[in-house]
Amino acid sequence: MTLLEGSVGVEDLVLLEPLEQESLIRNLQLRYEKKEIYTYIGNVLVSVNPYQQLPIYDLEFVAKYRDYTFYELKPHIYALANMAYQSLRDQDRDQCILITGESGAGKTEASKLVMSYVAAVCGKGEQVNSVKEQLLQSNPVLEAFGNAKTIRNDNSSRFVSEHLLGLGQEEALKLERDTGGYAYLNPDTSSVDGMDDDANFKVLQSAMTVIGFSEEEIRQVLEVAALVLKLGNVELVNEFQANGVPASGIRDGRGVQEIGELVGLNSGELERALCSRTMETAKEKVVTALNVVQAQYARDALAKNIYSRLFNWLVNRINESIKVSTGEKRKVMGVLDIYGFEILEDNSFEQFVINYCNEKLQQVFIEMTLKEEQEEYKREGIPWVKVEYFDNGIICNLIEHNQRGILAMLDEECLRPGVVSDSTFLAKLNQLFSKHSHYESKVTQNAQRQYDHSMGLSCFRICHYAGKVTYNVNSFIDKNNDLLFRDLSQAMWKARHPLLRSLFPEGDPKQASLKRPPTAGAQFKSSVTTLMKNLYSKNPNYIRCIKPNEQQQRGHFSFELVNVQAQYLGLLENVRVRRAGYAYRQAYGSFLEREGVEKVLGELSMSSEELAFGKTKIFIRSPKTLFYLEEQRRLRL
Ligand code: ADP
Ligand code: MG
Repeated sequence: MTLLEGSVGVEDLVLLEPLEQESLIRNLQLRYEKKEIYTYIGNVLVSVNPYQQLPIYDLEFVAKYRDYTFYELKPHIYALANMAYQSLRDQDRDQCILITGESGAGKTEASKLVMSYVAAVCGKGEQVNSVKEQLLQSNPVLEAFGNAKTIRNDNSSRFVSEHLLGLGQEEALKLERDTGGYAYLNPDTSSVDGMDDDANFKVLQSAMTVIGFSEEEIRQVLEVAALVLKLGNVELVNEFQANGVPASGIRDGRGVQEIGELVGLNSGELERALCSRTMETAKEKVVTALNVVQAQYARDALAKNIYSRLFNWLVNRINESIKVSTGEKRKVMGVLDIYGFEILEDNSFEQFVINYCNEKLQQVFIEMTLKEEQEEYKREGIPWVKVEYFDNGIICNLIEHNQRGILAMLDEECLRPGVVSDSTFLAKLNQLFSKHSHYESKVTQNAQRQYDHSMGLSCFRICHYAGKVTYNVNSFIDKNNDLLFRDLSQAMWKARHPLLRSLFPEGDPKQASLKRPPTAGAQFKSSVTTLMKNLYSKNPNYIRCIKPNEQQQRGHFSFELVNVQAQYLGLLENVRVRRAGYAYRQAYGSFLEREGVEKVLGELSMSSEELAFGKTKIFIRSPKTLFYLEEQRRLRL
């Protein structure tokens, strides 16, 4: 790889001099303008969406990258995929590939490129081929349903789903934040045929067949999908009970009738479940009518639930199918495609949990990077240099602490008897965190005589690693309480449709307990915890995707836009941590050929702190020294 800063900038940001936010972005820009969309930060890959087909992904490139080690060729996603694959194969280490970036940055393309690279190099043989095929086909299936999931699911981000993608040893984790970028299904459509255009629909069907779904299964999956579409069309209207209390009803009975026929459900029962709620206490059962707003909420919650459960079912089903065709024992490669840090005009509960997840990912990233560095120094017999870095543990704690975190406070408020509201929740936070260095609100600001007009009275602000975010507490309580009324799960369980029924095991009256199901926040937190455990047990590989402009235009690079993303991705901190010890290292073999060891030791008077000689590698502390050595080499050639 080219070390010297040339017309295409440095290929590894660790070598950037001087290291500043601006020079970092300029370097990415310089490279982008030369169609060099990939840049390293050590072994992290930064990718800037080219918005054009580049001739760098064909089999020739696959062949090149499989034969060289990481730093020998230009930065490329294949180099990263190859490193992960080889480490999986040769060192038996489970791998995880984390792909982050905002919508449109190129995450899905990146995960496809990784998968197709691995599929291309992972060997031949009939069984491998069939698994390969399944792996590649699982993408359109998950995409089709991932998209569909967005009709009624504005915050699917709370669902962490894990799925295996074959190759006999690959597992893919998927945490997906659905965005408006997906083609929405038309909610007015009442038949499955309208789900997508015919061609796509055929692709989907044949993909499912390749993966191993039976015709019966495909039919059932599509029926459940259709059920959601039909639910969306059930129109609820105001009604009044005899005593004048508002209630709700269904405008046109044909919709529920159709649903009933589709999934074997008594339509009267469905209507009851949608328009009323049964409260059970130890002594009695009380049925209350829902007003039209509540009934609409119940309908939407049901649709959301069916879809997310169907999606998870599909993921598991695909994993099962691949497991069966590959045998049990296998190594694992996870691909995690996650929506990045989010700061909108108005930030609510959804942004709060997404940003919490990103805060945790940043923590894993820093910890694992430092650990990896430490391990390499140990292997090489070099003393460890202490690294100063920003530890975001304090922010994670502020959110997730079991007794005193914001999520715990929210749960407490949701469960507390008496009158609770978003504002009592906020008051509690203000009281508890008034002195916290990463918490701000109007109240705490007033106390400190800081007047910031950008923050409303119903807001609190968290200083995340990526920047300050102001959250409005409006509807935090409701969103955290987002529960499916038991009437609905019981109605679904009563359907004669085997798949639908299996999605609602808790609807079985024998299973029903009075225990309250966990809140949305608690569920999200436990998903994040599971995800973190999973990551810590694997060798992580990072791809950071960047969207260069909002117009999806090739060749156009907006400094401002990239600047914000680089900040949210924590790129500068990333470089700092990477080069806190030694910026550059290389195996002696190639180093000797290039530099000649006497030159390093003798003729050049170098500070001993600048170099360290490990068992197999030489380490160079600062990029300046490296450039100096390169310069010397050139002069002497
Ligand atoms: P995300 O999953 O992050 O929302 P996508 O991966 O869907 O983004 O990328 C959005 C679009 O950008 C793609 O449909 C494609 O047109 C383009 N794109 C992304 N990455 C590449 C790439 N490496 N080469 C060419 N085009 C790309
Ligand atoms: Mg995507």
